[in-house]
Amino acid sequence: MSYRVTLIPGDGIGPEVMAAAVRVLSATGIDFDWETEIAGAGAIGEHGTALPPRVLTSILKNKVALKGPTETPIGTGHRSINVELRKQLDLYANLRPVKTLPGVKSRFEGVDLIVVRENTEDLYSGLEHVVVPGVVESLKIITEKASTRIARFAFAHARSHGRKRVTAVHKANIMKLSDGLFLDCCRKVAKDFPEVRYDEIIVDNACMQLVLDPTRFDMLLLENLYGDIVSDLCAGFIGGLGMAPGANIGEAGALFEAVHGSAPDIAGRNLANPIALVLSSAMMLEHLGELDAARRVREAVLAVLAEGRHLTPDLGGSRPRCSCRVPGATVARSAGPVSRVR
Ligand code: NAD
Repeated sequence: MSYRVTLIPGDGIGPEVMAAAVRVLSATGIDFDWETEIAGAGAIGEHGTALPPRVLTSILKNKVALKGPTETPIGTGHRSINVELRKQLDLYANLRPVKTLPGVKSRFEGVDLIVVRENTEDLYSGLEHVVVPGVVESLKIITEKASTRIARFAFAHARSHGRKRVTAVHKANIMKLSDGLFLDCCRKVAKDFPEVRYDEIIVDNACMQLVLDPTRFDMLLLENLYGDIVSDLCAGFIGGLGMAPGANIGEAGALFEAVHGSAPDIAGRNLANPIALVLSSAMMLEHLGELDAARRVREAVLAVLAEGRHLTPDLGGSRPRCSCRVPGATVARSAGPVSRVR
């Protein structure tokens, strides 16, 4: 059987890490029929928009997408296509596992966290306006519906993955109404999952406690902005952004992508670490029900790290030797022989 999957190479290091991930996926022996779609800054020249409608159509049809990072201009220019994709496809749950990888130098050992971030509202609603010159208002939207469903997603994930504890992260001491509503919803949902311990922590204290000892947490449940910031912080516990995978999940489909961005500082230099996207691909395999292939991909990553011979510079290695090609991409580079992921 062949899986038809929308493939978005993205900007910056996106095409580089995507090519490596596709190569690993093909080494599993599973057949993928990639539907390559261009989105991000790279799409503007050809399509006049960073998110051509055909990208949404493709994902809605295939229900699964693998995406490289896309660039969003700071302060001006087009809106983030990530925010747009998550909203338009209602990919409300952002799932970011953070697990220590053996052989990777980091400050902590035994980190095994899952960050669950609400993906559709909060300060990402894009509702900003100038009240009077010199005064700008940004609206933070929190709804009962979105808070309840993300809490339900987190607890259901805890139940199905044998997790013991969900910690809601908030600032309800200051944002009493918005974060207060978020907490109310989490508390109500928690009652339906008595086997999972539930507790709460204020976001600034959460950051301090995480930096002291991330192993004291199990699953973190956060609104959109806190989730974005805290998941990058957590990526630092396991060796950096090059190691942190992610998934955006909704009723209409699922989109898998690394936590990191397009890394313009290292783009095009064959320095990017593809592990985050390779591990995101393993999450995709799991989502497709290909559990054995997902396990083999993870084990292959662990074996490469444990061996320590082929590491990217962020892990203390040198420039990788092989470069690969994204299906449907116009620039072909030589790819070395590929061995099967067992
Ligand atoms: P970034 O994640 O691109 O880079 C932060 C730092 O981490 C850089 O020093 C970079 O070199 C390093 N890094 C990131 N990924 C790496 C990898 N795979 N291997 C080795 N090093 C890696 O964050 P940024 O610089 O703040 O953002 C750059 C652009 O990416 C912005 O336009 C931003 O909007 C976009 N962005 C996109 C996504 C996404 O598409 N999901 C996510 C975050 C940021």
